[in-house]
Order: sequence, then C-alpha cells, then structure tokens
Amino acid sequence: SNSTILKVADVQAMKALGRALGEALLMPSRQAIVVAIRGDLGAGKTTLVGGVLNGVGFKGNARSPTYTLIEPYETPQRHFYHLDLYRLADPREVEALGLRDLLTSDSALLIEWPERGEGVLPVADLAISIDYSAGDTREVSLAAQTAAGEEVLRKVLE
Ligand code: ADP
Ligand code: MG
Repeated sequence: SNSTILKVADVQAMKALGRALGEALLMPSRQAIVVAIRGDLGAGKTTLVGGVLNGVGFKGNARSPTYTLIEPYETPQRHFYHLDLYRLADPREVEALGLRDLLTSDSALLIEWPERGEGVLPVADLAISIDYSAGDTREVSLAAQTAAGEEVLRKVLE
C-alpha cells in the first residue's frame, strides 16, 4: 500500500522511525527525494529528523534551522538538507534559498512546515503528518506520492 499510519509511543520510538527512514533514504535514486513533514509545534517533526540524521551517521540532535531555514548534512551517499520553513513569510522566499540547486539526484530534503512553501516546493515523494492530542503517543501517517516515495516507504516498513 502507499500509505500507512503508525502509533509512535515515545521519543525513542520516533527516533527509531527516523533512523529507519534515514537508512531507506540512503538508497540510490534517479531524482532528489523530498520528504514533507507536517504537524503542529511540538508534534515531533524535529525529533523525527534527528532520528533520520542519526540513521545516516550523524550523532546528537538535529539543530533546528528555525532562523537559517536550511541546514545541510553531507554523507558519502547523499546530501541531506533539513529545512524548517516556519518563519517563511512568503512562499516565493523559497527561491532565495536556492532550492532548485539542491534538487540533485543524490540529495534528500526533509522539510518541516512545507505548507509555508505551498506552490513553490516540489511535490513531496513522501508526505508525513504527525498528530497528537495528549501524552507522548503520536500518530504518524506516511503517504507515498510518487514511485520513489513508494520505494522509500516500503523500505521503512520492512
Ligand atoms: P516539532 O519540530 O514538531 O515542533 P519537536 O520534535 O521539536 O517538535 O518537539 C517534540 C517534543 O515532544 C519534544 O519535547 C519531545 O521530547 C516531545 N515528545 C513526547 N513524545 C514524543 C513522541 N512520541 N515523538 C516525538 N516527540 C515527543
Ligand atoms: Mg521543529
């Protein structure tokens, strides 16, 4: 199937999901892989990205690019870019980030607050949405929106 909903009990489980996603993103691809991550403030988007980065070999927590908007991470297999568009005032500002140049076949974009870049961002291969009400449990929906996204999702769920 090309979408699924997972119950994620705590921070450790969110990090583990992120690590699995990171490992899946190391696969070769013909195009850049774009992962959009939606959810309210405090939902766990940055925690998930931290897991992804740990999964591809970076130690510690993700530095939230709230002010820089974008933070690059290099691995031998792939360029990872963590974007947080919360402070974007206008979708057209995305162009100033030089996004087009980042969309190479060996890049992966992890984008928090993709709704701020509506109409300017490329279609996400994988659309993730994190829901929560009370307590630590998060409901994470993952939807593949392209063939590349389906491949990544299949690998995450293996
Ligand atoms: P966002 O980037 O969506 O604003 P963060 O990842 O920065 O969210 O923060 C999530 C907060 O929620 C952290 O303080 C984290 O410890 C807490 N938390 C509690 N349970 C979870 C969970 N299951 N997954 C992710 N974060 C959780
Ligand atoms: Mg965040």
